[in-house]
Amino acid sequence: MLSPGLLKDLRAVVGPENLLADPAGLLCYAYDSTPTTSLPDAVVLPGNAQAVAAVMRLAGEAGVPVVPRGAGTNLSGGSVPLQGGLVVCSTRFNRIREISAENLTAVVEPGVVTANLQAAVEKLGLFYPPDPSSLSVSTIGGNVAESAGGPRGFKYGTTKDYALGLEVVLAGGAVVRTGGRTVKNVSGYDLTHLFVGSEGTLGVITEAVLRLIPLPEKKQTLLAAFTQLDRAAEAVSAIVAARIIPATLEIMDKVTIERIEEFRPSGLPLDADAILLIEVDGSEAEVDHQAARLEQILKAGGVERLRVARDRAESDELWAARRTAYAAIAHTRPTAITEDATVPRDKIPALVRRLQELAAKYDVEMAIVGHAGDGNLHPVVMTDQRDPQEMDRAVKFFAEVFQVTLELGGTLTGEHGIGLLKAPYLEWQFGREGVEVMRSIKAALDPKGLLNPGKVFQRPVARPV
Ligand SMILES: Cc1cc2nc3c(=O)[nH]c(=O)nc-3n(C[C@H](O)[C@H](O)[C@H](O)COP(=O)(O)OP(=O)(O)OC[C@H]3O[C@@H](n4cnc5c(N)ncnc54)[C@H](O)[C@@H]3O)c2cc1C
Repeated sequence: MLSPGLLKDLRAVVGPENLLADPAGLLCYAYDSTPTTSLPDAVVLPGNAQAVAAVMRLAGEAGVPVVPRGAGTNLSGGSVPLQGGLVVCSTRFNRIREISAENLTAVVEPGVVTANLQAAVEKLGLFYPPDPSSLSVSTIGGNVAESAGGPRGFKYGTTKDYALGLEVVLAGGAVVRTGGRTVKNVSGYDLTHLFVGSEGTLGVITEAVLRLIPLPEKKQTLLAAFTQLDRAAEAVSAIVAARIIPATLEIMDKVTIERIEEFRPSGLPLDADAILLIEVDGSEAEVDHQAARLEQILKAGGVERLRVARDRAESDELWAARRTAYAAIAHTRPTAITEDATVPRDKIPALVRRLQELAAKYDVEMAIVGHAGDGNLHPVVMTDQRDPQEMDRAVKFFAEVFQVTLELGGTLTGEHGIGLLKAPYLEWQFGREGVEVMRSIKAALDPKGLLNPGKVFQRPVARPV
């Protein structure tokens, strides 16, 4: 509960229409894309960095927790206000300030929707590659705070590879600038990449300077259908080993294909056990060469059927199907939990096998979809959080998935962040000392622990022996 005095001061900073304190209006801010919910005490929608700084100063003085929020699409529990307090939502702080074709940079406010930035730069023949499947709604602030990736990560990397500089408001209201507009920049510590992926726990991002690249001349989309999931996974390793770097290399299992076709019929092959959705891009000659090489490799790898998109419309249709995968899977049961297991690329076949074994062991209903070219799979478990036994099996399944991922030389999360859901497992990856280093950085920047409390750091759970 915030004091009437604090609410009055906040209203004066952001304007009465941009402060929400009525419980009905707060409900939408209690959620993200995970099953956890918790109501904030109030929400502010500031429109500029000065207002964010003033809000942070007031919250700091009052000892009120602050949870930064973009579109609330994250899959790790990152924007749920666990301890109530104030949500600072950036959706109306959303201008593209500058696009420079000379410098290959864009300067944007945190609430810019990723797809809007991509459309704006593409009109100028430029390209901003990071493409989380949520891109039609998720924001650049949320993407930077999670270092979001997406299908194009294989060739182009993730958000961290495009963040050149940031403006960040710290707990207490100080405003800092990190990095800059240059591609080369090694002045002092690399604070930009400290804030990238910091999940709203170190500061509120109020501006991002992003690197752009020229838009590729041509793209070609291929859909490869396999009668066995194992074969599709092995084909991924064969493509990587042949030194072909497609722009995207996505995998979907049978459950995913069936759910997409029920939800949004898209012409995916229902008789396939798995499909790879591949896009190559570059100059015309490069694209033709890569597509021909891929065809050879896929045929040698036992592909059942290969479809090459005839035109942009067919390719867009296939990508739209891929982007609906999560919604298509999620709507079939009351609760869907998506994980983010990421392993070295050559371990993808082993990870797929282990996921299938674990799903059978814990009797959970699972779909596999993911950015196979990055070694990044999203096992989605369809369950019902009202059924304690079913949930218990899902929790045990995921704990063992984390264990297997680390055994295979991977990481707990490739792009969704630690947030709330994976915080108890962080020590499994970094040990007590590694987590202590992170905690000391957090304490230095947020000594009162007011920024997004309960995220990233939690009491560790014991690792199975
Ligand atoms: C259908 C679907 C598909 C998805 N596909 C992908 C995918 O392919 N790849 C991928 O990486 N993710 C994916 N996601 C997850 C999600 O979209 C990303 O994590 C995205 O970056 C979140 O952006 P957002 O604007 O929704 O941020 P939110 O969910 O609101 O916030 C995410 C985190 O960032 C913090 N934050 C938000 N704004 C700021 C700010 N201005 N300053 C500081 N911290 C801030 C929040 O506190 C929170 O911890 C998907 C989600 C869904 C629902």
